[in-house]
Amino acid sequence: MRPAILKLGGSAITDKSKKCTPNLSVIQSALDQIAEFQGPLVLLHGGGSYAHPFVTQVGLQKGYKGSFQLRFISETELFLDQLTRIIGTGLLLRKRPFVPVRPMSFITLRKGEISHSFLEPVERALKLGLVPLIHGDIAFDRTRGCGVVSADKLASFLGRHLKASRVLFGCDVDGVYSQDPKSSARAELLEQVTERDHRSVLLALGRRSGRDATGGMFSKVVAAVELARNGVECFIFNITKGQLLGEALRGHFPRGTRFAPWRRRD
Ligand code: ADP
Repeated sequence: MRPAILKLGGSAITDKSKKCTPNLSVIQSALDQIAEFQGPLVLLHGGGSYAHPFVTQVGLQKGYKGSFQLRFISETELFLDQLTRIIGTGLLLRKRPFVPVRPMSFITLRKGEISHSFLEPVERALKLGLVPLIHGDIAFDRTRGCGVVSADKLASFLGRHLKASRVLFGCDVDGVYSQDPKSSARAELLEQVTERDHRSVLLALGRRSGRDATGGMFSKVVAAVELARNGVECFIFNITKGQLLGEALRGHFPRGTRFAPWRRRD
C-alpha cells in the first residue's frame, strides 16, 4: 500500500513568538485525527520555534562559516528532538507506534539540495507498521559544510521516492492565497494550483513569503508543484481549526489548495 505523507507545519504546531513553545491544542487535535487513520503514514513536522531562532541566529541555512556555529547545531538538534518527543508521546498514547528518524543521518546535501539519501530504514519502518516520525533538520552539505533540509522539501522528496498516495501540508492558514492573508484583507484563497497556472502563482508569491529559514509559502508551493509534476496529489490546508486533517487523510479536501497530479503515476 502506498503511504500517505503528512507534514505538520512549524507555524501551526509551535508558537513562533516564543522559543521552544509548543502549540499543544493544535498538536493534540492533529494527533486525534491521525489516530483514526489506519493506513501507512509518514509523519513529518517543521521545527518552528524549536529550530528557526537558533538556525537563523548564526546563519546555519547558508552553510558552515566557523566553529562559532557548532554549539547551535547541537542545540538545534536537542530542541528538535524535544518537539519530536512531544508528538511521539502523543502518538503512543493514541496507540499509534512510531519511530523517530533523523534526516541528518539519512540525507546529505549539495549546494543546499538533497544529493544523497538512504531511505531503507524509513521503508522498513513502514513495512512493519510503524509511523516514521521525521522533523525538518540541519543536514551536512558536500559543498557548504552544512545546511537546512526543510520538512516541506523532505515531504516532496519522500512523496516522490516512496510513491505516496498523497502528500498533505498542514499549516496555520487555509491554503495558498493571492497574497499573504495575515497582512492583506483582500487575499483570496486559491482552491487549486494547476500545471497551467503554477508559474504565475509562484511569481505572485515571491521567494520571501515567509519569515524564517525555510522559505515560507513559496517553498511549500515549490514542493507541492514538484510532487504534482511527478504524479502525486497534494493539498495545503489549515490544521489549526476544524477536522480537515482527518478528512484530508481520507482523501476529501473541503477547504484548502489542491494540486492535482499532472500525469498518471508510473
Ligand atoms: P509552516 O511553518 O507551516 O511550514 P510557513 O510559516 O513557512 O509555514 O508558511 C506559512 C505562512 O506563509 C503563513 O502563516 C502565511 O502568513 C505566509 N504566507 C505568505 N504569503 C502567503 C500566501 N500568498 N498564501 C498563504 N500564506 C502566505
